[in-house]
Amino acid sequence: QEARDGVTLGAEGVGLLRSEFLFDERETAPDEEEQAAEYVAVAQALGPERSLVIRTLDVGGDKPLAYLPMPKEDNPFLGLRGLRVSLENPAMFRAQLRAILRTARLTRLHIMFPMVATLDEWRKAKATVDAILAEEHLAAGQVDVKIGLMIEVPSAALIAERFARESDFFSIGTNDLTQYVLAMDRGHPKLASKADGLNPAVLRTISLACEGAHKHGKWVGVCGGMASDPLAVPVLIGLGVDELSVSVPAVPTIKSLVRRLSLKDCQELAQEILQMGTATEVRACLQAFAA
Ligand code: PEP
Ligand code: MG
Repeated sequence: QEARDGVTLGAEGVGLLRSEFLFDERETAPDEEEQAAEYVAVAQALGPERSLVIRTLDVGGDKPLAYLPMPKEDNPFLGLRGLRVSLENPAMFRAQLRAILRTARLTRLHIMFPMVATLDEWRKAKATVDAILAEEHLAAGQVDVKIGLMIEVPSAALIAERFARESDFFSIGTNDLTQYVLAMDRGHPKLASKADGLNPAVLRTISLACEGAHKHGKWVGVCGGMASDPLAVPVLIGLGVDELSVSVPAVPTIKSLVRRLSLKDCQELAQEILQMGTATEVRACLQAFAA
């Protein structure tokens, strides 16, 4: 229903399908058939001209699963989280990928992995997709599926250029990227106001990701909360972000804002902002730009 609502409101695709909602609040993991039914329904709502970015299971840290025993960790946000959970549970990972791949002929399918920190993790995940495609005789060319990663961990942004050689796209998860760049828990009541994606350190990290991707002709999206913030949109575009994935109700506002912006103005704004030292300065500059 959300996909249909998005289309009605003018969305050009789904930029982040958080697949963990299918796994949440139940006794057992959904099997391949059950998952496929949901993914296919979303793909059908979008149709062949729109793109669908499905994120593989992103649990651990703040998102536990009742049926997936996870060891007690001292630092769950730095432990088995995101893609690491999938790599630890290969049968579940493969079932999910097979279910996702059933949508490949219905829409412009993109698969992305959450919380990628190292090239080795990325390669292992990508190899799993390639192996399934080979088994199903879906060699490249027969199905069009793009494989990308989320940039949520500073290490991935720092060597973005290396990731871009081997991937089709990036999507920046600014919620987690902010918490990992600033070492501030995204849900911490006392830190919430300081864990600001508009901190220049976070913006520089986003800039690195865009630079790395564009060196190899790959596109970069933002799928974290910042993409839905009208104040942040001009600087994101100026830094080189190519795609914004926003909450459904924000689609019309953000789309109309983007249409009113000049790329050159946004680029100049971003260069000025990259020289700043605090989120307060950045916010003041963005407020003046918006006025
Ligand atoms: C993010 O971290 O910005 C993101 C989009 O993922 P989630 O909020 O689901 O962790
Ligand atoms: Mg995240």
